[in-house]
Amino acid sequence: MEKKESRPLPHELERMAPKERQKHLEERMKDIIAYAYEKAPAIKERFDKAGVKPADIRNIKDLEKIPVLRKDDLIALQKANPPFGGYLAVSLDNLERIYQSPGPIYDPQRKRGFGAGGGMGPDFGKGQIVMNTWSYHITPAGLGVDQLLRGMGFTVVPMGTGNTELQVQVMHDLKVHGFVGTPSFLKIIIDKAEEMGYNFKKDFNLKWAMVGGEMGGETLRKLFQEKYGILCMGGDTYATADVGTVATGCEKQSGMHITADAIVEIVDPATGAQLEPGEIGEIVVTPFDEVYPLIRFGTGDLSMIVEEACGCGRTTPRLPKIMGRSGEAVRVRGMFVHPKQTDEVIARFPDIRRYQLVVTRPQNRDDMVLKVELADNAVDREKLKSSLDKSFRDTCKVRFDRVEFVANGTISDGAKRIVDQRKY
Ligand SMILES: [Zn+2]
Repeated sequence: MEKKESRPLPHELERMAPKERQKHLEERMKDIIAYAYEKAPAIKERFDKAGVKPADIRNIKDLEKIPVLRKDDLIALQKANPPFGGYLAVSLDNLERIYQSPGPIYDPQRKRGFGAGGGMGPDFGKGQIVMNTWSYHITPAGLGVDQLLRGMGFTVVPMGTGNTELQVQVMHDLKVHGFVGTPSFLKIIIDKAEEMGYNFKKDFNLKWAMVGGEMGGETLRKLFQEKYGILCMGGDTYATADVGTVATGCEKQSGMHITADAIVEIVDPATGAQLEPGEIGEIVVTPFDEVYPLIRFGTGDLSMIVEEACGCGRTTPRLPKIMGRSGEAVRVRGMFVHPKQTDEVIARFPDIRRYQLVVTRPQNRDDMVLKVELADNAVDREKLKSSLDKSFRDTCKVRFDRVEFVANGTISDGAKRIVDQRKY
């Protein structure tokens, strides 16, 4: 891969004239495609099936010739050929860690960092204590961001999720400067602190927050900045476990700049055809990743490309925000929940006749209700609730808020198993 001797650095690419940058990106794209075709058997198979040779892909437009790799396809491929479905381009002993994300999908730890990086503000420096509240357990967010933050010189408190009171106590006692996690979790911590008798603005030292992982965080970011003086870094970061960082916000908070370390397309989810800037479609990513070269990976997330120049000086196009999901999976509090997983949970409970998971967003917090029709009304509901809670949490890595028992026939035949009613 390292045949280009004077490859521009990421920050140089970010400020280049778009045409010139495209030339560099297309060079790297051609390299990674040739490399992946040779090293990853599943890529060769996919290309051969579509009748495409690496040499046929000369520019970004040519990518349309390659079918989009769907998350569902990857799940099936990994199942048939574990652990990585033929997409790993290096031998297993080159991997530092393996993560699992919902689906389930196994992700090898790549060399590229996972998480935020762009848009550092004036108060952002070394020697600060940061609380990382992404989950450290099996998903890549916690350890990946931890590594990135330490690499930048921060001292990290590996809090992980949950334990709100402990989070408050640590944030207070260690005079924590920075918070990393979802905006709704930061709100929960602030609320808890005030409930515990603290005056958050006066008694805490929180200067900035790097928040992301859920849609609709704008209202909370505004609240953090205006009411508590917490600088929200970079507006947002968009990353997935499968392809790493896709876009990061900047100090102008005008959307997220697309990384110069991948080709990012917005496509029609049905056909895979590329869309024009300003048109909403699925985000499809080809990361320049020599470990796990998922060429044209369909994220299932919807957004659009904005090309206008940004006041921060970067010339890279932006994604204004993530606008929803193209598939059936929904992202709740930063975790994707897929009907395949909920089916798997419900299959363990023969007393349940039918179910539907309903996601809403009252007061800027994702709320998830599991509606259940019973096969046998004599069942012990409290016991069922608590085993459901545990089973759901184990499989989906996120908790529902409550179970609602509904009369038989309430959930119609063929109804969607996961319904997203959130409005942003
Ligand atoms: Zn910018």
